[in-house]
Amino acid sequence: MSTGTILELCYLVAAITFILALKGLSSPKRARSGNFIAMAGMALAIVATFFTPNLHHIGLIVVAMVLGVVIGVPAARLVKMTAMPQLVAIFNGVGGGAAALVSITTFVGLDAKTQATYKILEVLLGVVIGSVSFSGSAIAFIKLQELITGRPITYPGQQIVNALVTIVAVVLIILVLVTASTPLMWLLMVVGLLLGIGFVLPIGGADVPVLISLLNSLTGVAVAASGFTLNNNMLIVAGTLVGASGLLLTMMMCKAMGRSLANILFSAFGSNITATGGEAGDETRSVRTGTPDDIGVLMAYARKVAIIPGYGLAVAQAQHTVRELADELEAKGVEVFYAIHPVAGRMPGHMNVLLAEANVPYDKLKEMDEANPVLATCDVALIVGANDTVNPAADDVPGSPIYGMPIIHADAAQHVVFLKRSMRPGFAGIDNELLYNEKTTMLFGDAKDTLTKLVAAVVAS
Ligand code: NDP
Repeated sequence: MSTGTILELCYLVAAITFILALKGLSSPKRARSGNFIAMAGMALAIVATFFTPNLHHIGLIVVAMVLGVVIGVPAARLVKMTAMPQLVAIFNGVGGGAAALVSITTFVGLDAKTQATYKILEVLLGVVIGSVSFSGSAIAFIKLQELITGRPITYPGQQIVNALVTIVAVVLIILVLVTASTPLMWLLMVVGLLLGIGFVLPIGGADVPVLISLLNSLTGVAVAASGFTLNNNMLIVAGTLVGASGLLLTMMMCKAMGRSLANILFSAFGSNITATGGEAGDETRSVRTGTPDDIGVLMAYARKVAIIPGYGLAVAQAQHTVRELADELEAKGVEVFYAIHPVAGRMPGHMNVLLAEANVPYDKLKEMDEANPVLATCDVALIVGANDTVNPAADDVPGSPIYGMPIIHADAAQHVVFLKRSMRPGFAGIDNELLYNEKTTMLFGDAKDTLTKLVAAVVAS
């Protein structure tokens, strides 16, 4: 068997592992093993690539890999769960940039005039899509890291400017196809970078994670284009998988937020924020507050308690304490389950990852559609750092930024308890009527502290 055949077989095995990994990642139970399968497949693909006939610059490749490991491993290990979206953004941007560079070096290295038009088109698509993905992801990172405002950045005539830049990119692609001009190809790269910036600036707030998923999909397309350019089946398969799964994830996030992709990309969501929430006590209307002891007794004598986690659980890193509370309640014969909204937190599966880290059994997690019918049978809905995902404005207030988003109906339970630090709104920046509902009791404070007090109160009950 020739080296080329062995190489292609290794790539085939790696491609199969990527597909199996995606399957694994679709369930919290198998997500970890899915990741390991993908890592093994990638390791195989990398090792096999070193056996590519006539591979040059092996020393430089090794140096680049060492640099990648030195930067990537600590970044991934040290990142806080709440900062995961920006890490994904920057890693994704680097992937898009790398795909653009592969296409650029290919263009510079070949005699474009002698190549078939479709070959050059592939290369140019890699340049432009990779550049859009790189600069767009960099802006998304800067926004999420709050180095600039996370809100949409808009100016008059923005849509027209973006449309013009897109037209310039298309014209440049045609010109390079006709003239095979290298300077125009560089100009195309610059226009691609501008397009990525222009496209991402007007998107803000809770829409940024959806955008990152879309940019991820674009990076996949750019990588697949590089694969065609280099005649590399591994890059074609991996790029296509990333492109397709990124797009599917984007559509799922849109559905869970009750919005269309076009609305997310072009409506400057965060700019029409109508927040009225302020610090606790700023409101003219009063809310009912409780003590940990009262709420502990209420829960200890309940039959069924639903725990509804949200972004605040991640901020407080209270996943272990919430599990402790559930254990204590169960020890007293209370039935406990967790109601999980698909976009609770700041990234898909955020709550599942947190709760898995605290070894919460998977069968205790109920997805929103499964949890909602059961909530009316619960004595207590304990909302731990969630807000938008339980906000009835999604059902009742047409024109609200979250109108139409499916929510967890915490208000169906006999009692609602909110654990949060203040009356401040959630990510969408809008007031939540549920805080003022007569069924609701507020327990203000960092979720880890209040949960710790609740555990003590339940034990003492
Ligand atoms: P929200 O962002 O609506 O609310 C979180 C709440 O947690 C806040 O009201 C905050 O109130 C409270 N909080 C913050 N820190 C703490 C703390 N240390 N202790 C206790 N409470 C705390 O969260 P949800 O999870 O309900 O909603 C997620 C939002 O993100 C939705 O708008 C969703 O559309 C959006 N989104 C999610 C994506 C995903 O994939 N998961 C992707 C895109 C968008 P306070 O400051 O008073 O403590």
